[in-house]
Amino acid sequence: MRPLSSAPAPSRIDPDELHNLQLRKLRAGLAEVLTANAFWRGRLHDVRGWDDFERLPLTTKAELLADQAANPPFGTNLTHPLERFVRLHQTSGSSGDQPLRWLDTAESWEWWLGIWADHVYRAAGVKAGDRVFLAFSFGPFIGFWSAFGGAQRLGALCISGGAMTSEQRLRNMLDLDATVLLSTPTYALRLADVANELGLDLRGSGVRVTIHAGEPGASIPATRDAIEEAYGARCFDHTGMTELGPTGFSCSQRDGIHLIESEFIFEVLDVDGNPSEEGELVATNLGRWGMPLIRYRTGDRVRVSREQCACESPLMKVIGGIQGRVDDMFTVRGVNLFPSQVEDIVRRYPEIVEFVIERRRERQMDEVSVLIETAVGDFSTERIEADLRQALGVRLGCRVVERGSLPRSELKAKRIRQVG
Ligand SMILES: [Zn+2]
Repeated sequence: MRPLSSAPAPSRIDPDELHNLQLRKLRAGLAEVLTANAFWRGRLHDVRGWDDFERLPLTTKAELLADQAANPPFGTNLTHPLERFVRLHQTSGSSGDQPLRWLDTAESWEWWLGIWADHVYRAAGVKAGDRVFLAFSFGPFIGFWSAFGGAQRLGALCISGGAMTSEQRLRNMLDLDATVLLSTPTYALRLADVANELGLDLRGSGVRVTIHAGEPGASIPATRDAIEEAYGARCFDHTGMTELGPTGFSCSQRDGIHLIESEFIFEVLDVDGNPSEEGELVATNLGRWGMPLIRYRTGDRVRVSREQCACESPLMKVIGGIQGRVDDMFTVRGVNLFPSQVEDIVRRYPEIVEFVIERRRERQMDEVSVLIETAVGDFSTERIEADLRQALGVRLGCRVVERGSLPRSELKAKRIRQVG
């Protein structure tokens, strides 16, 4: 059996060594990309040192989509002939974009699974004896396939929750004595809500760890607390993107995301494109050379710290997890806000089962209100409005909507709704 980690654990890599490792991997990978990959050949130059790297252009999702539209179906970002690729996945297209298609070779798929096993699962304490339940439909979205493969590599028992209702998933988890749940944070709370309605005892179940991706929820304190309370388990966050790879995980401290710098180069750039502690996350993957991304603008807004984490990992940490998509930022009377800040208040109310932030354009002004769905009949919004005002510094009105009227999703929940 393959050892769990072929590389030294990240806690034993010092920052200089990490930097050298990144440059070595980048140079080795780029050598083939510069000769064989039509998308990158015209855009990149040889990289000898970090100065060269920083002069490489940034790349956006729009450019990748345009390339695939002009050169269907896979675009020109292909370092190998198509026969070398063994997996196709695609983005959900949830932001209204066309889905972006992405191919993996056997080698790059191994890279994905290795990161799950060596970083994400290891940090959450998931081991060979665990039973991992994946509450997901197993469509073309990559996240849960890679989570499944990574758990299998660990030696855990992997259980697909595909093609099941929420009730069937709950009964499967309980009957099969699952110890680990993977889902979006919103869907974990949805499952807990259904369990409550059915009178099923989740807290008394074998689930001891939950791992979440797709939304920032597991790093939002109130959401994390709500999930931990509902399952009697420890709740962990994971970040990744179909086109990029698995980028981060929450450690034992669970107050943010460590970025996996041994497998990626990460930069944080402010609005002017200068390096900063707060801004947009830009990433280069170092193990997916069949269809690589170099200096890719993730669209995720982050604040990072290099201070030593109590878990002793030397990896840079995104404080409090990803704040949100740069596009999801909204403004109320001059104050810039992210849905995650609203979520951190809303999830303190166990009686609220779902919420959406509604933006309404009125008289050239953004009017923003929070629509909430509750499990109880009479819910007064006064207290939560006061909490929001205190936490955010601006007034946000709340409106209770009919039970079952807000959209449910097992994929990324859409937290902003634009009206008018
Ligand atoms: Zn840590």
